[in-house]
Amino acid sequence: MQLYQSPISPGRSWYEDGIERPAFGALTERIDTDVVVVGGGFTGLSAALHLARAGVGVVLLEAHRLGDGASGRNGGQMGTGQRLWPAELEALYGFARSKALFDLAEAAKRHLLSFMAENGIDADYRAGQLSVAHKRRYVADYREQAEVLATRYGYGDAQFMDAEETAARVGSKRYFGGIRDTGTGHINPMKLVVGTARLAGEAGAQLFEASAVTAISRQDGRIIVSTAGGEVRAERALIATNASGAGLHPETARHILPISSFIGATEPLAEPERVLPGGESCDDSRFVVRYFRKSADNRLLFGGREAYTSATGDIASHIRRQIAEVYPHLAGVRLTHAWGGSVGITLQRMPFVRTLGPGITAIGGFSGHGVMLSNFAGRLYAERIIGLTDQLSVLEQLDLGAFPGGRLLRTPLLFLAMTWFSLRDRL
Ligand SMILES: Cc1cc2nc3c(=O)[nH]c(=O)nc-3n(C[C@H](O)[C@H](O)[C@H](O)COP(=O)(O)OP(=O)(O)OC[C@H]3O[C@@H](n4cnc5c(N)ncnc54)[C@H](O)[C@@H]3O)c2cc1C
Repeated sequence: MQLYQSPISPGRSWYEDGIERPAFGALTERIDTDVVVVGGGFTGLSAALHLARAGVGVVLLEAHRLGDGASGRNGGQMGTGQRLWPAELEALYGFARSKALFDLAEAAKRHLLSFMAENGIDADYRAGQLSVAHKRRYVADYREQAEVLATRYGYGDAQFMDAEETAARVGSKRYFGGIRDTGTGHINPMKLVVGTARLAGEAGAQLFEASAVTAISRQDGRIIVSTAGGEVRAERALIATNASGAGLHPETARHILPISSFIGATEPLAEPERVLPGGESCDDSRFVVRYFRKSADNRLLFGGREAYTSATGDIASHIRRQIAEVYPHLAGVRLTHAWGGSVGITLQRMPFVRTLGPGITAIGGFSGHGVMLSNFAGRLYAERIIGLTDQLSVLEQLDLGAFPGGRLLRTPLLFLAMTWFSLRDRL
């Protein structure tokens, strides 16, 4: 049997195993509708679902298969707050806006948990997140972060851990301290993609796969979105292409750049109680973050990033080396899967939400923190169109800057910066 392999990212992910991904045909006609959504990840699917449920006509066009971008291949960690810590956000935007962004992320968390529960989507949710310092000098920052969250942001679920507690909870002496957050958790992201797509289809959204959008234009006041096989004419368009939509819209490409992240899945662990015995997920203090957790069947899913070649074998050997640094007893563990994906990042590491012209909105660039935020942003887009709320403006008002360097230099400059940060992680 030929197993499915995403055409845009290396390696077959473990999430593909044991899940039935419904197939959707390609666009072969001309359709007139209210909203056209470009991109079938969490953002696009959530927007399509919530629009369709409100009775708005919606067509979603995905270049490959739904979830083939970051949404079906990520680490599944939900986290708390934004990608930047509150203290960093306060330095950039002041307390009031930082608090509004934190509250928005908490609303995103509540949305995701209640959305899965109310709609019967079992995405293997497990509670608990550990964030840990890979250098002793960062421990004080974690202590302060837990304190700030409790006293200034009213968030009491994040507790500081000393080195001893951290070692016991991670199952490794590699880290020096950190935070245990009992108010969040982790999921199997592909199960969420499949569940959301099913609901969107049932609600009346028209979903198409293998339908790469090649151009967006305007005629007679309508937006025209073209693919090789057909076109969609709509009043509004949502560009939810994240890291992989570079060619489609220059403004989005200037603000969201792709960086590769890689994950390996081990065979089910022989002694699962020695690794994250409380079942939490874990991320560390590296700029080029390492993130890991156990799956429902006790595999270790371990993610990180280095400059690999595109060969899956290379991903596996690098990930195995990183696993052994944290868990020396797993030095010889067998990896059954190794895969990569593109994380859409912005210069400020905050989501990019922008009105690009009459009726056209772009949402993406969640910078490795999109599991809860992208799903919520899709819903907020729908609420804006329906006229229910305009919470999306909390993100749109951030007015993020573009990456420097112009079209040709942007990516090489980012590569240099990432190489520098990854070196600094080791110093
Ligand atoms: C390896 C990895 C690990 C990660 N781990 C975590 C984590 O643990 N926690 C967390 O919060 N976040 C994590 N992320 C980030 C998270 O997955 C993303 O923020 C989130 O999935 C973004 O969803 P999206 O819908 O905006 O984009 P995507 O899921 O990338 O969807 C964009 C879609 O647009 C499609 N597309 C592109 N161009 C076109 C076109 N021209 N026409 C039609 N369709 C097009 C793509 O094929 C793709 O399916 C990770 C990402 C990766 C890659």
